[in-house]
Amino acid sequence: MRLMELGEFGLIERIACKVGQKQGVRIGIGDDAAAIEPTSGFEVLITTDMLVEGVHFDLALSGPFTLGKKSLAVNLSDIAAMGGIPRHFLLSLAIPENISVEFLDNFVAGMLEMGDQFGVTLIGGDTCSARQGMVVSVTVIGEQSPDLIVKRSGAQPGDLICVTGTLGDGALGLMQLRAGICEGAAVARHLDPLPRVLEGMKLAKAGPPSAMIDISDGLLADLGHVLDLSGVGARINLAKLPLSGYYRGNQPLFIEDPFLLPLSGGEDYELLFTVHPDRLSAIQSSLKETGPLATIIGEITASGGLSIFTATGDEYFPEQRGYNHFHYD
Ligand code: ADP
Ligand code: MG
Repeated sequence: MRLMELGEFGLIERIACKVGQKQGVRIGIGDDAAAIEPTSGFEVLITTDMLVEGVHFDLALSGPFTLGKKSLAVNLSDIAAMGGIPRHFLLSLAIPENISVEFLDNFVAGMLEMGDQFGVTLIGGDTCSARQGMVVSVTVIGEQSPDLIVKRSGAQPGDLICVTGTLGDGALGLMQLRAGICEGAAVARHLDPLPRVLEGMKLAKAGPPSAMIDISDGLLADLGHVLDLSGVGARINLAKLPLSGYYRGNQPLFIEDPFLLPLSGGEDYELLFTVHPDRLSAIQSSLKETGPLATIIGEITASGGLSIFTATGDEYFPEQRGYNHFHYD
C-alpha cells in the first residue's frame, strides 16, 4: 500500500495498533493529549532530539529498523545522562513522498523494540508530509527522585573524570560506511547505538556522580560543556582513553591519528561523569553488577581550560574539537 492511500490518520492508526495498553498511561495515542501517571515524589525529566535526513542520517547507509531504534536511543541517552528512568515518548514525523509504508512499518517496529527494551511507551506524536527529506523528532519523558538527578554543572576540582564503554567506534563506523563497508562492530555501533540507560540509573543511585553528560558530539565537546557549566578545568590522559579491540585493529586503515575519533568523533553515546575519589568504589561496584567498569581518563582541575597529555607527559593539541551544526560546507 502507498502512503497516499493510507493517509495521515491511517498511518497513525497503524502505529497505534502496534502499541499495546501500557502501565502508567491513562490516555495514550488518539486523544488531543496524552495523560500519564507520575510516580509520587519524583520529578519529571523531558528531552527532545531531532534527526534530519541528510544531516543525521543517510537513507542509503541506514535501514529503517535501525534508524527507528537509533532515533529513540539518542533520546534515551539524554535521560540516561541525567540519571533518569525513561518512561514514555512522543514521535513526530515529517515524511517525504518517496518513503514507503513498508519503510515506516520497519522504522516504527525498530523504535518500539528499543522502547520495549527500556520499558518506554509511545504515547503520541505528530505526523505531517515533508517536501524534501525525512525528519524524525522524538521526545522522551522520564523521571527520577530530585536528589538523584545529575546535572552537567556539579564537577568539583579533584573529581575523577570517567567514561563508560569505549570511544571512537561510532565515528569509525561512519567512516567505514562512507567507504562502502557495511558491517563490523563499529558500523553496528554507529547505526544501532545502545543508550546507557541502565548504567545512568545505577550511577545515580550509587553516587550520584557530581556531573554527567552523554557523549554525542565527541568527548572534548561534551566534556567542554561540563567544564563550562561547572566553572572548572580538566586534565585528561590520552593513554587512558578506552578504545575497543575492534577500534585498535581497524582505525589505522582509516585515519592516522588514533585519538582524533575518540576525542572529537561523536556518536558514541557513552556516559561521561565526574565523581569524588571517595565515591569511586561505590560507583564501580554498581556498574560491575551487569557490565564493564567505567574508565578513569583524567581529573577536574580548579583552573579553567582542558589540557590533554600523552603517555609521555607531552601536551597534545587536537586538530578538531567536536561536531558543530551551522557549518554548511
Ligand atoms: P491534532 O490534530 O490534535 O494535532 P493529530 O491528528 O496530530 O492531533 O494526532 C492524533 C493523535 O495521534 C494524537 O493522540 C497524537 O498524539 C497521535 N499521533 C500523531 N502522530 C503520531 C505519531 N507519529 N506517533 C504516535 N502518535 C501520533
Ligand atoms: Mg497534530
